[in-house]
Parts: sequence; structure tokens; C-alpha cells
Amino acid sequence: MEIFNGLLNLLYPENLTCIFCDEEIFDNNTFCTCENCQKNLPFIKEKVCERCGDVIKSMATFCDHCQKSKTYYDKARSVFYYKDEIRNCLKKFKFDGCKYLYKPFAKFMAKKYKEESFDCDVITYVPIHETRLKMRGYNQAELLAKELAKILNLPFVENAIIKTKKTLAQADLNYKQRQSNLLNVFKVVDKNAFKNKNVLIVDDIFTTGATIGSCAGEIKKANANKVFALTLAHTIIEE
Ligand SMILES: [Zn+2]
Ligand SMILES: [Zn+2]
Repeated sequence: MEIFNGLLNLLYPENLTCIFCDEEIFDNNTFCTCENCQKNLPFIKEKVCERCGDVIKSMATFCDHCQKSKTYYDKARSVFYYKDEIRNCLKKFKFDGCKYLYKPFAKFMAKKYKEESFDCDVITYVPIHETRLKMRGYNQAELLAKELAKILNLPFVENAIIKTKKTLAQADLNYKQRQSNLLNVFKVVDKNAFKNKNVLIVDDIFTTGATIGSCAGEIKKANANKVFALTLAHTIIEE
């Protein structure tokens, strides 16, 4: 698979076509995205909840959910809404072996990191269970986090947190089930990795924040200072 992807990259150099629509790109474009897609991609530009990054239409600082309940992360942000081209492209990235997409995706995330004035000491990622890792060959969140750390010149923390149990797909569960599905599934195995640090957790999709919250809780237990989260896409919550 590694060799095959290498060959694909040779045949289709990543800078020549748009990752979203396959149009040829003529200018030197670091996001590998054509002008038209740059304009029309579903970037999150609206006012969002200070904490979880859900769009809010009122003047409130926090969304209803964050006003009522505590989250372990201090602030979560995403680059895009999880829809249209972003959904398609993320599916290719996760399930169709289009591993190379981590590079342009991480560039979008680096831009967001700067816009949001995140100030982190280390970057880590939401782990997947080892049997899933063997099946897929890579953890998409890990690839994004590693590339993001490289772009931002920040230390990348790997293998410090592991997923100890296989869980059901969060998307198939309701809110309560999601919380219990994730109970005690993450474990920090490197006790000093996060001590007194501001930590950024990277993942591909933010759905209800239950996964990130569960990870953040463990990282805080390992004496982290603040825990932030950055994801490529954010599911649209129907009100
Ligand atoms: Zn395009
Ligand atoms: Zn919120």
C-alpha cells in the first residue's frame, strides 16, 4: 500500500490538481485547492460558542449545552463544516487510502490555529484502537497532528495516550450512549508527556465533542495545564 501510494503521488503530483474537484491548478497553491473551491468550501466563519465551537445565533458566549455542563477541554475549533466536498474528501482520506490528503488538510488547520491564536506547548491526537490501526494502516488524526506540529514547529507527542477498548461508531448512538460508550476508553501511558503543558488534541471530525472530551479528561488527569482541540471538520448540530 505504501508503495502504491508512492506511485500514485508520482503519477499525480499533489500540487497539480485540486483535492476537492480534480480541476487543474495552475498557480503555486499550498492548499492544493483551486480558486473556485477556496471560495466555496464550507469554512466556519460564523460566531461560535467560546468553548465547543458550535455555531450560536444568540449573543451568548457559550451554547446551551456548554452553559449547562462542564467540558474537559478549554476550547475546541474546526476549520470546516462536515458537509459537501469536505465530507467526501474526508471519506477518501479515511477509507479509500488517500493518505496523502493529510498534507493540504494540515495546512488548513495551521491557518486556523493561527487565526484562533491558540498557544500550545505540544500537539497530540485522538488515538484509535490497535486492531483498527492494523486494518486501516494509519490513524488519520495522527497524520494530521504530526504534519501540523511540523508546520507550526511544535513538539509532537506520540503514543502517550492509547485507546484501550474498541467502541461502537459514535455516529450510531444518541448523546447519553455516546458518553458511556467512551467511558474509560482512553489511557495516558506516558505520565510526564503532558505535565504542566498546554496541549492541543487533533482529530479529523468533531461530532458532539464526546471523544475529544474523554481524551481531554485523561490528559488533564495527567496534570496538563490547558487542553485545546482542533479538528478539520465540525458536524452540523440540528437545532
Ligand atoms: Zn477545486
Ligand atoms: Zn458550546
